[in-house]
Amino acid sequence: MKVIGSKTKTLIIGSGAAGLAAALRLDELNEEETILISESAFDSVSINAGSDKQTYYKLGLCGATPDSPRALAESYLQAGGADGDLALVEAANSVRAFMRLVDLGVPFPYDAYGQYAGYKTDHDPCRRATSCGPYTSREMCKALLTQLARRDYRRHFQGRVAVQLLATPLEPSSNDSIPSRRILGAVAVNAKGELEAIMADNVVLATGGPGGLYARSVYPECHTGAIGLALEIGAVARGLPESQFGLASFTSLEGRQVKAEIGPQKGLKEFRWNVSGTYMQTLPRFISTSADGGDEREFLRPYFPNVSAMLDMIFLKGYQWPFDSRKALGGSSFIDLCVYYETEVLGRRVFLDYAKDPADLDFNELGAETKEYLENSGALLPTPIARLAKMNPGAISLYKDYGIDLAKEPLEIGVCAQHNNGGLAVDARYRSFNIDGLFAIGETAGVHGVARPGGSALNSGQVGALRVAEFIAHKKGEGSLEKDFMAAVTNATIKICSILRHARENKIDWRRERREFQRRMSESGALFRSASALRDAINEADRQLKRLLPDNYRRVDDNERTITEDEIETLRNVQLCLAHRVYLQSILSEVEAGVGSRGSQITLDPNGAAVSPLLPEDWRVAPENEEFRKVAFCAYVQTTDVTNEFGVSTFIVPTRPIPEPDEWFENVWRDYREGKAFE
Ligand SMILES: Cc1cc2nc3c(=O)[nH]c(=O)nc-3n(C[C@H](O)[C@H](O)[C@H](O)COP(=O)(O)OP(=O)(O)OC[C@H]3O[C@@H](n4cnc5c(N)ncnc54)[C@H](O)[C@@H]3O)c2cc1C
Repeated sequence: MKVIGSKTKTLIIGSGAAGLAAALRLDELNEEETILISESAFDSVSINAGSDKQTYYKLGLCGATPDSPRALAESYLQAGGADGDLALVEAANSVRAFMRLVDLGVPFPYDAYGQYAGYKTDHDPCRRATSCGPYTSREMCKALLTQLARRDYRRHFQGRVAVQLLATPLEPSSNDSIPSRRILGAVAVNAKGELEAIMADNVVLATGGPGGLYARSVYPECHTGAIGLALEIGAVARGLPESQFGLASFTSLEGRQVKAEIGPQKGLKEFRWNVSGTYMQTLPRFISTSADGGDEREFLRPYFPNVSAMLDMIFLKGYQWPFDSRKALGGSSFIDLCVYYETEVLGRRVFLDYAKDPADLDFNELGAETKEYLENSGALLPTPIARLAKMNPGAISLYKDYGIDLAKEPLEIGVCAQHNNGGLAVDARYRSFNIDGLFAIGETAGVHGVARPGGSALNSGQVGALRVAEFIAHKKGEGSLEKDFMAAVTNATIKICSILRHARENKIDWRRERREFQRRMSESGALFRSASALRDAINEADRQLKRLLPDNYRRVDDNERTITEDEIETLRNVQLCLAHRVYLQSILSEVEAGVGSRGSQITLDPNGAAVSPLLPEDWRVAPENEEFRKVAFCAYVQTTDVTNEFGVSTFIVPTRPIPEPDEWFENVWRDYREGKAFE
């Protein structure tokens, strides 16, 4: 295999909002020895995903409502499982991160006095959330890209898929029994199909969340995520069981005219979008059909005592978007369960119909909150589409951009994976727990707990970028790692060639393999969890990994070969398949510990409360054991690097409390002068 080499101080992998912000911050700190690689500037979740009103969460900056970094940090910790130091860091730095975006031109709205008015988002006690519309994270990426271009930044190399992180051999660590190692760089496949080995003292992994792990997903199709690369070298992860699921649409784009400015997403086949906010508050008709489109029913009706009770619940879903186990029994998340039952158990298709009113809709019968909202919005109008046009015309035009006319066709929906609150275990500088020189920011970092205020993911990526850049800029250089790097490149090349030869010889079809682990995750590692299903899933996952990996990695003599696009996907499958195996093990450890139902998942328990007499008898909800809010579930791969033998270890750590640093100004100033703020 042809291998090209290069060397840098810092390698950033991923150009979503987090990776772009890290590149910009490092550039502003004169860190010229930085390289950013990514698949493409247009393939991130940040530039492609959004919702009715995509949210950015920060310290309150409006009116007379008092707020403080500590109060905000406490909100981050409410649901449990998150660390206090990271919460304080994300709270304290939210103002700087947010104002940087404002200054770069992201159009966050402010009033005539310069106040950034806010609204309440999920899990938010104050009005700290803000938005610049459905495409907040796209606006952020556009502003960051524009600023990088203004600075004539030429070190963003696109068309690169990282396929292996390079590190020194594993060493027993002083840090109990978890082995550690030092990062050396990464190997990527470039657009010509060549391997590029990049040597780096620091690697900032900004590859987003695990979108490629699920069959039902609202992550844009182009995004798979790459946390598996870090898991493969033994990096510790935390909070992997805590994810967000919710109602989202997925519409095939076959034969549709997609607006040119949407951006060149590779091979986009489906448009996916969260159906939150006004998509629900306009009270669409929920219908289901058989797989072939026949036998249409308003399937939600039998679950409710009357039409208005059903419509009030649909309305609530608008601002209670992610599935929340606390709202499953008689709350708005019950709707998600009914949709899940239709699609995943009965095999039917569910749609939101905006063209016609739900049968028997009578505005006078609606609950006070629903009616008042529609009345105040001037939207007591016939048909959901007329109400949507009145309340949020952008919500209609957004679908039109993809050739989807909500006035004419119903929108297919399901309960989809949307975000992972966990990720790589990092400290308050976003440094990996056990891989020296490896940093994780954005959705790759495991900073959120069981639940997070909506909008905190976007803030996290910006704050992480700032913290990492400051740390790296003030860090002393490493000694020469060249010898270790050369050895690691040789091993990586042998491994990559062996995997590809094994795939060729065994005619492994990457599409079929990907569908297999995606189905497994959506069935056993998503909304519903049970120990027996997880154990079966783990056994199947092990069998699949054995199939994807050769028994041994051996030198293959194919020096001049380049890697095809299909082979890149074969390599990607290896890290994704390993990642799903680690996720499943982490989830099982949480279920076996007796955590119960919390966040966006239901743990099944024969003694738990039944969801509904109309839903499966075994849908019984284990109550949450709140003791577990003070700990985090961690996992890592025990790897040998040279064979396909590996194991997954799990452990529990207490969450770190909110620090109580000395806040006396003179002391902070002295420490700052001495560089302690950057340690
Ligand atoms: C539908 C939807 C709605 C959302 N709404 C909100 C919201 O309202 N508020 C909020 O805070 N969050 C929201 N989120 C979550 C938030 O958008 C993401 O967490 C955030 O954008 C992730 O940013 P990131 O920079 O970490 O990763 P991404 O934007 O996912 O970028 C990852 C980058 O890594 C690159 N990459 C991945 N693998 C490789 C590889 N092997 N080699 C090279 N490059 C690679 C990709 O190409 C991409 O450039 C939403 C998410 C979705 C899906």
